[in-house]
Amino acid sequence: MKRLDWIQQEIKTLKEAGFYNTIRVLSSPQGAWLQVDGRKVLNFCSNNYLGLANHPKMIAAAKAAVEKYGVGPAAVRTIAGTMDLHQDLEKRVSVFKQSEAAITFQSGFCANLGTIQALVGKNDAIFSDELNHASIIDGCRLSGARIVRYNHCDPAHLEQVIKENKGTYEKAMIITDGVFSMDGDIAPLDKLYEVAQANDILLMVDDAHGEGVLGKGGRGIVDHFNLHGKVDIEVGTFSKAFGVVGGVVSGNAVIVEWLRQRGRPFLFSSAMTPPDVAGCITAIDILESSTELVDRLWANAKLFKQEMAKMGFDIGHSQTPITPIMLGEAPIAQQFSRELFAAGIFATAIGYPTVPKGKARIRVMISAAHSLSDLEQGLEAFRKTGKALGVI
Ligand SMILES: *Cc1c(COP(=O)(O)O)cnc(C)c1O
Repeated sequence: MKRLDWIQQEIKTLKEAGFYNTIRVLSSPQGAWLQVDGRKVLNFCSNNYLGLANHPKMIAAAKAAVEKYGVGPAAVRTIAGTMDLHQDLEKRVSVFKQSEAAITFQSGFCANLGTIQALVGKNDAIFSDELNHASIIDGCRLSGARIVRYNHCDPAHLEQVIKENKGTYEKAMIITDGVFSMDGDIAPLDKLYEVAQANDILLMVDDAHGEGVLGKGGRGIVDHFNLHGKVDIEVGTFSKAFGVVGGVVSGNAVIVEWLRQRGRPFLFSSAMTPPDVAGCITAIDILESSTELVDRLWANAKLFKQEMAKMGFDIGHSQTPITPIMLGEAPIAQQFSRELFAAGIFATAIGYPTVPKGKARIRVMISAAHSLSDLEQGLEAFRKTGKALGVI
C-alpha cells in the first residue's frame, strides 16, 4: 500500500512528538460530571458554559420538535422549503441581539466559510487578526482574497496595514474573533469599529465563545460593547454556551439577504435538524427569562481564577471564563493532565500547533453547571498536582 505510506509516516511522527490526538469516550451527557472511559470524572474541558447541553427544558423542546417535525430537514432550504421553526429561530436571534436580521448555518465553521467567500473575492483584501480561529482562516483562503494579518488585538497596527495597502484592493473586510478561545481575551471591538468606519470597510466578528457568555444575559460581544446596529456581521455558534449545534450570522439585513442567495453552505448543505433548532429557541427563552445562569458562570469563573492565582499558578490574561493554566512545554502539560485524570479531573492539555511552542497549557473551561463543591474539588486536585510536579 505504497500510496498510504506517507500518511502512516506522518501519524508516526505525530505520536513521537506527542501531538497525536487520543480521543476519550464519554458514555454520559455533557455536564459538570462525565462518565469517561468507564470512570466518573469532573468535567473541566467542554464549552457547555451554561449547562444547557443536558438541560431538562432543552431536552423537552427537542423531543416536542421531533414529534412535530421529525428528525431531519430532508434537503437544503432553497430547494425543499424552510420549516417555520428555522425562521422562528432566526427572528428570535435578531430580537435577542437587537440586530436587523439573522441567518442560521449548520455550524459556526460553516457560517464563517459561507460568509467570507460571499463577501470578498480575488480583487479584495481581508484584514485578519493573527490569532483568528481556523474556520476564519479557511474561509479567508476559500474566498481568494488577499489576507493581510494584523497584530493580535492591535487596532493601531490594523490602521497601519490598511494605510499600507490602500489602493491595492477593491473591497475589504476586517475579521476578528470576539473572544480568543485559547487565552480568553476579548477583541477591542469598539476600537476596531472606529477603524472600520474611518476606512469604510466591512467589520465581521466571530463571537463563538462570547455567545451566551458576554453582554447582558449572554447577548454577545456586540451587546458587551453596546455596538448594536454598527457591526456588519456577528457570527455566532449554538454549539458552545447554547449547548446544541449550529451557526448563525446576525447583523446587517442586506448582508443576511445576500447570504440567503450566495452563502454556499446555506445553498448546498441541509439545514440544522428540527430538534437542534427547537433546542436553540429554548436556549434563547432561558436566557431571556433570567440572567441567573450567566451570572453563575461568571461568579464560578471569578472564584476559580482567584484561587488558582492565589496558589501561584500562571493563569494568563483571560477576561472571560476561559482559564488557561500556563505550563510551558507540551510534555509537562500532558503529564499534568494525565495526573489530574488519575485524580478524577478531566482537563485536556493543549500544545503546539493549537498554541505557540513553549506556551502549552491546560485550558480549564468553567461552567454554570459546576457547584461550589465541584470547584473546590477541582482546585484541590490542581494544588496537589501542581505541588507534585513542582509547578507551584
Ligand atoms: C468553536 C469555534 C467555531 C466553530 O463553531 P462550531 O459551531 O462548533 O462549528 C468558530 N469560531 C470560533 C472562534 C470558535 O471558537
